[in-house]
Formats: sequence, C-alpha cells, structure tokens
Amino acid sequence: MISEGCVFIGPLAKEILVNFFRRVLFLFLGLLALCGLYANDSLAAADVTAVRLGLHTDKTRFVVELSEKPIYNIFYLPNPYRIVIDMQEVNWKALKVGSRKTGVIENYRYGLFRKGTSRLVLDLNAPVKIIRQTILPPSEGKPFRFFIDVQKTNNDTFQALVKATRKTKLAFAPPVVHIVPEDKKSKKLRIVIDAGHGGIDPGATGRSGVYEKQLTLQVAKKLRAQLNKNPKYKILLTRQDDTFLSLRERVGIARKYNADLFISIHADSIARSDISGSTVYTLSENASDDEAAALASAHNMSDVIAGVDLESQDDTVQGILIDLAQRETMNFSVKFAKLLIPEIARSGMKVVGKSHRFAGFRVLKAPDVPSVLVELGYLSNRHDEKILKSSKGQSKLAFSISKAVDKYFGNR
Ligand SMILES: [Zn+2]
Repeated sequence: MISEGCVFIGPLAKEILVNFFRRVLFLFLGLLALCGLYANDSLAAADVTAVRLGLHTDKTRFVVELSEKPIYNIFYLPNPYRIVIDMQEVNWKALKVGSRKTGVIENYRYGLFRKGTSRLVLDLNAPVKIIRQTILPPSEGKPFRFFIDVQKTNNDTFQALVKATRKTKLAFAPPVVHIVPEDKKSKKLRIVIDAGHGGIDPGATGRSGVYEKQLTLQVAKKLRAQLNKNPKYKILLTRQDDTFLSLRERVGIARKYNADLFISIHADSIARSDISGSTVYTLSENASDDEAAALASAHNMSDVIAGVDLESQDDTVQGILIDLAQRETMNFSVKFAKLLIPEIARSGMKVVGKSHRFAGFRVLKAPDVPSVLVELGYLSNRHDEKILKSSKGQSKLAFSISKAVDKYFGNR
C-alpha cells in the first residue's frame, strides 16, 4: 500500500508537490541573493583619490584615480550635452577641486546615484565623442587610472552616440521605499516628507560649505519624529539617506502611497547675503514673480544635474486630465501653505511679506496629492544658515511644520 501510494500521484498531489519544490527553489534563490548582497556589502568600496583634467591640442583628457579597478558604463545625454559614467559605489576621497572647466568640459559632478552605483556627470560645452577610454593598472606608486579622452564632434554624431548608448544604459531599480498598502479601516492620514536633493545632487551650498541635501534630510527626520507622536498619522520619507531620487520618483512615491499631504523640504541660496527667511511654494504654471520662476527652474534642473535621461521617460505627470484633477488639489495645497507660514513665523525664522508664492516646481505635480515646497531659509544668509545647521533650529522648524499639519487636518 505504501509503495503504491508513492508510485501513483494524483493531479492534486502532483500540484502540491510541484508547488512545494517551487517554493524550495525560490527559498534557495532568495538565500543566494541575500548571500550575494551580503558579500557585496562586505567588500571594501573603491576610493577615488584624484580627478584631473588636461587640455591637449586635439583632445580634453579626464582622469580618475581609484584604489580598485573601475567597473563602468558610459552613456551620452543631450540638452544640455553631457557624458554620464556609472561605476561601482566609490568613496570620493581627498579630492582637491582644481579647475573643473577645461577644453570642452564645462564642469563635472559626482556622487551616489543609487545604492551600489556612483555616478560622474561631465557637462560639455559642445557635442563631443570619446576617442579613447583606458584603465591603467597601478604602477610606480600610482593607483588605477581611468582615462577618458574626448574630442569635439558635430551634433549629428553626438545624437547618434546618445541613441547608441541609450540601449547599453544600466536599468536601475526604482528607489527602495517600503510602501505599506493602505489599510482602509485604519483611516490614518498619510503624510510624505520629501528631503530635497540627495546623492549626486547636493542642492544649494551654504557659506560654511554645508550642503542643502544634508539639512533637508535632518529636518525631514525631525519632522517625522514629531509627527509620529500623533497616532492618527502615517509618515513616509522619500529618502532616508544620501541617495539621489528623480523628481518623478518623488512624486511617484507620494501617489503610490496615496498620500494626503506631501511636504518637500528645501533651503535656498542666492547671491545677496542680506536676504533671509522662509518661503512656502505651491504649484502654478504662472510663477508669482521672476525670482520664484528662477527658483523653480533651478529645482527642476535636479534631474539634469544627476544625469537622468528625461527623454526616455514617458511623462505621465503631464496632460489635460491632470490639469483638471490638479485644481482641487491645489486649493488644499494653498490652504496648507497659508497655515504653515504663521507657524514658521512662531518658530523664530523670519517670514517676509510675500512668503507664499506660486511656481512650476515639478516635484509638486502629483495631481491628487496636496503638495507644498518649503524653502526653510537662505543658506547664503549667515543668520539663517546658523538656524538651519543647529539641531535646535531644525527641531523648532520641524515642530512648526507639524503644528501646521495638525491644523490642516484638524479643520478639514
Ligand atoms: Zn532645494
């Protein structure tokens, strides 16, 4: 009887058996993947010890010195002309920032793009092509040297290179944000806090050299802690560390989370050091003034700075449908902005006459999520920078935003 049972397997038993083996296989693959991740994490990241630019008669040379051999991928981007180099995650160490503008290279940037991938972006003042790329092994006390020689070319050749390299581009997984599915019964109010900039995009730089991306994350975390005290709220941060997120991804997170409110946190910097205070922005295609328009376009440059290929994205964040849905959302955004300004004033940060403005920030374009962008203060102003850098100042600002959130949901 026993042997018979083993020989004959009915369709149901067969399915159970197949499912069982499938599960074992998945478990095994999962474990393998975990081991792989662990092994990756335990590997020492390469150090970038120097970046040099050199001008030759027929070419501009870009050299990166690294402690490990680079594993890289290069692609070209138009509007403006750029070359993007993705590498394994590296530590940018001992970088003496010399002249960044040499020959056809106008400037370069570097930083973390996604966990595991560092990115270098070369801004070009003309269409160029790479005529040589070489890695020299360590010798005579020098580490690995990665040479890229570029030469001016015509626009057609450049566009062909854009096309050709688009196919080879690494496909990045979307940012890791753990979005818990909505629990209809809980009726919690979902708030997404967006720390502006991050990774390769540092945002504004303060007088002391502090980056906007650091301060926005610190305030975002303090705001989360403050709001978490209220059990009515469920809070999600778009980023938790120094990593890059495109504007579309930030908007996408708010929408996916079904957010009831989206707060993007920033700090500004301008040429005039006497200007200070907070400003709250809501979305409008018609900016309230030139300064607001300039700021929005500077912020919308974030994706350009980070080497995001905007042309290969299908833009679902635009269109007529969105315009219609946005109108109601915009009223809620304005309502929150109006509640926020007096709260910020109470925190001790200066609030000037026109502290609520309108501009076309891409990050505010979720059609169904009331969204505001807060410029907490000016990093170009000594007084504001001091507040923004201090833990106490950050806590006060976070507290004032949380008060406005309470009032907004309280009266709704
Ligand atoms: Zn910003």
